[in-house]
Amino acid sequence: MSAPPLTDDYIALVDVNSFYVSAERVFDPRLIDRPVVVLSNNDGCCVAMSREAKDLGIPFGYPWFKLQASADKLGLAARSSNYELYGEMSARVMGLLSRMSMWTEVYSIDEAFLGLRGTLDEVHAAGEHIKREILRLTGLPVCVGIAKTTGIAEYS
Ligand SMILES: [Mg+2]
Repeated sequence: MSAPPLTDDYIALVDVNSFYVSAERVFDPRLIDRPVVVLSNNDGCCVAMSREAKDLGIPFGYPWFKLQASADKLGLAARSSNYELYGEMSARVMGLLSRMSMWTEVYSIDEAFLGLRGTLDEVHAAGEHIKREILRLTGLPVCVGIAKTTGIAEYS
């Protein structure tokens, strides 16, 4: 008789990728696969950038008026921030996550910790499930990091 696989407690950190930009992309697919910035109140400066916009070297906080003239040439799209939308999308994500674990803790508008229990393989499969389901049900891409609770406890 072989020993049962070792199960243990893990913590997953779920984080929406480029949250504001990803939320805008759900409702405007023209923004997918191109550089996108989301602007602060009154369209003053860039407060969120897609991966493609970061690759252009646009830093957080860069003034929009300095970019506007070259936006077309760069293929760069900009959106005014819509915090009502981001709050709504965040609530959807957090609501779904709260049903995927007995223990969740919201860490920020686009990040939450989840408790997961099982073998390492099971916990990795659970992480893949979370990514798939959040994308399927909200349109938002997330990444999932997994750590041992004891490891975190040792260093906290
Ligand atoms: Mg994020």
